[in-house]
Amino acid sequence: MKYFVLFGPPGAGKGTQAGAMVERYNLCHLSTGELLRAEIAAGTPLGLQAKSLIEAGNLVPDSVVEGMIEAKFRDTKGVDGFLLDGFPRTIAQAQALDSMLSKSSESVTGCVSIMIPDSLIQERIAHRANIEGRADDARPEVVENRIRTYHAKTEPLIDFYRKADKYYEIDGTGTIEEVRKRIFTAMDKL
Ligand code: ATP
Ligand code: MG
Repeated sequence: MKYFVLFGPPGAGKGTQAGAMVERYNLCHLSTGELLRAEIAAGTPLGLQAKSLIEAGNLVPDSVVEGMIEAKFRDTKGVDGFLLDGFPRTIAQAQALDSMLSKSSESVTGCVSIMIPDSLIQERIAHRANIEGRADDARPEVVENRIRTYHAKTEPLIDFYRKADKYYEIDGTGTIEEVRKRIFTAMDKL
């Protein structure tokens, strides 16, 4: 099995690019953001716990997302691998992922990182707020907190995967097609 980490700041276009990636490489798309929003919509206890954190632009506890991911690894059949979108988001989550995979003598195949500047993050999320109606996209101060959280807690993963020689950075600026081609060029070799 292949395990790809799809990395990038909020609004980088991870969700947008994920569809083409799962199709080309027969992967299961696991977006922790989408899984959490489904829990909120279903009104589960987990969703209730996550809602206020997400709407303030904070991360949910590591144990919550780690549990969701491990359950999906166990229950998903018939794919050649997984595309992890929005996970890991902290060093602790990355270490938890490594230990989950090492139980079956597996490891992360590569971290595909879609990079855009902070100025473009704001612009893209403001645009998406009008289309998708996500509560965490609507308020500029929440978006700013997500960007801060990204720099403080998530960005250190770049070094984590670089040191493991698994970091592949993609220029996330330009059209959706341009970015997709760059991703395929990198992933075809992995
Ligand atoms: P993108 O626009 O690239 O899809 P995003 O940051 O806008 O990324 P999601 O990945 O959908 O949005 O995540 C939404 C929220 O869900 C996060 O701000 C965070 O509160 C929570 N969340 C998602 N994944 C994790 C995670 N791995 N650990 C902790 N919290 C998470
Ligand atoms: Mg997303």
